[in-house]
Amino acid sequence: MAALIRALRSSSSSSYYTNYFIRRSLSTAASTTAPPLKSEPFTPFMDTKGKHVQWVFLGCPGVGKGTFASRLSTLLGVPHIATGDLVREELSASGPLSKQLTEIVNQGELVSDEIIISLLSKRLETGEAKGESGFILDGFPRTVRQAEILDDVTDIDLVVNLKLPERVLVEKCLGRRICSQCGKNFNVANINVKGENGNPDISMDPLLPPPQCVAKLITRSDDTEAIVRERLRVYYEKSQPVEEFYRSQGKLMEFNLPGGLPESWPKLLEALNLDEYEDKQSAAA
Ligand code: ADP
Repeated sequence: MAALIRALRSSSSSSYYTNYFIRRSLSTAASTTAPPLKSEPFTPFMDTKGKHVQWVFLGCPGVGKGTFASRLSTLLGVPHIATGDLVREELSASGPLSKQLTEIVNQGELVSDEIIISLLSKRLETGEAKGESGFILDGFPRTVRQAEILDDVTDIDLVVNLKLPERVLVEKCLGRRICSQCGKNFNVANINVKGENGNPDISMDPLLPPPQCVAKLITRSDDTEAIVRERLRVYYEKSQPVEEFYRSQGKLMEFNLPGGLPESWPKLLEALNLDEYEDKQSAAA
């Protein structure tokens, strides 16, 4: 972990980028063949304590990366690191970066790679001091440049790409509510979207808060329709190429969410070959 943090930190300097891209072009020239695609069903690499889990969750705004990454992190005993949460912590700390970040986030744009890498390195350092190892990254990498930097400093085992139709994504973002006290995510939207082009219909029941959270619900300032649409546009432009980056490495597992959490969670565990693992963990608890 210490080496990863050092490498990420040094990646913020421009001389590093120059050297980095030179090294990268040399290695690309030496080997032009992409690794073969992994066969289905995907068998994740895991040791018994989940220590070597180095996973990335990709997907459009509102798809549920945070929800699924957080559940898996609890199951596997590795930290869930969401760069969106790191950005929001920085916003609420009202430090020197806060004003600049508020403007960027409220326009639905991406924060610079340098700032994100600095926030991520700080988070990894804090985790290392607590003895953390492994991670599930959510919201990083979001540009091919970030993916290349990550690739240069560590090995990612698996990239899960969560998918939902765009109409569902917008409704989910607009229905999202967060408890300002406990930090849990809820959703007040009742979604019923007809499947198009032979795809199945999608229904999601609202995920309502318990009584103690009801009066404390807040909405993210970037969850307005205009900003959500801009975040989606930015995703298609800047983050979708990251899917291709990992697809060509044979690390991408596509997962079309069949519905809300109750239907999707068991199916995701099955796709990850973790269904039996969860049964054993629940039995042992
Ligand atoms: P979303 O719901 O759009 O996936 P997140 O909670 O992951 O949003 O992130 C919120 C905001 O934080 C993003 O719109 C962006 O401004 C910023 N952000 C988060 N992760 C990154 C990243 N890896 N690179 C650049 N900006 C980021």
